[in-house]
Amino acid sequence: MDYSSENGWHSPRIIPYQPLTLDPAAMIYHYGQTVFEGLKAYRTDDDRILLFRPDENFKRLNRSSDRLSIPDIDEKMVLEYLSELLKLDKDWIPTYEGTSLYIRPFIIATEPNLSVAPSTTYKFMIILSPVGSYYKEGIAPVGIYVEDEYTRAALGGTGMAKTAGNYSAAYKAQDKATAHGQAQVLWLDSSEKKYVEEVGSMNVFFKIDGEIITPSLSGSILEGITRKSIIELLKSWGEQVTERRISIDEILNAVREGRLEEAFGTGTAAVISPIGELSWKGEKTLINQRETGSLSRKLYETLTGIQKGRIEDPLHWTYEVK
Ligand code: PMP
Repeated sequence: MDYSSENGWHSPRIIPYQPLTLDPAAMIYHYGQTVFEGLKAYRTDDDRILLFRPDENFKRLNRSSDRLSIPDIDEKMVLEYLSELLKLDKDWIPTYEGTSLYIRPFIIATEPNLSVAPSTTYKFMIILSPVGSYYKEGIAPVGIYVEDEYTRAALGGTGMAKTAGNYSAAYKAQDKATAHGQAQVLWLDSSEKKYVEEVGSMNVFFKIDGEIITPSLSGSILEGITRKSIIELLKSWGEQVTERRISIDEILNAVREGRLEEAFGTGTAAVISPIGELSWKGEKTLINQRETGSLSRKLYETLTGIQKGRIEDPLHWTYEVK
């Protein structure tokens, strides 16, 4: 679908996957005016297609667009277009255990113009890719590198938006995490380098003294849809969940004092990913003996069960494509 300032969003169409031709001066190439989303379609055992909270993805897309001065889309209309696309061929959605169809909606600025100003033309596209299980054997704890040099997103910047710049800002830190033998980066706040923000592609939760704590949305954290769902689910189970600032020192002290029961990340790709180790200032700290905690396991099983249509969906999160 295309956008021009004269015609608004227009010409939705489904075409075979193919390379895209853009003018070399298209603004996306130079100034990163782009936003994207990530969600998954699941095929149920009785052959229905389920999406997990797609309305939340399109709402977030519009929030990201607003931050990047990109015109908003009609969320309901786009969900209808996505449904048409998915109905073309059910077999795009793999059926074997742990698999799904990853959906990537995105918008790019296409106007050929070398000045720094919002583009007057855009393209909205949706591409699809079957994905396997994030972990070969269910869930497994990952190691996290705590970054205190580079910043992913500053207050007042684009951190709350799902936009390319936040991810390119992360490459150098991800290199450091890999060099330290850790899977992902844990970001700290940009001003004091003290408070935990989020992991590369996940939000984070810590269970300390029975209370489940997740960093409050500071303005530079992405509001994860899995994060929001986990908070709602935990509250529906009567668990104590607190959204507040939490420092890396508080977390490490809780580990030392044996009060941190488990930690985990949440995101569309990994669903729930237990954190088994923290690497901070050259020191490694094991969390929960690098084992998957019972809460992480229960959340993983509940969420994947709902997404696959295998268990009841008490909070009405799934959307059936018909
Ligand atoms: N933070 C970042 C930076 C991400 O890229 C993602 C993945 N979209 C998340 C958090 C988790 O968000 P969600 O649960 O919506 O996938």
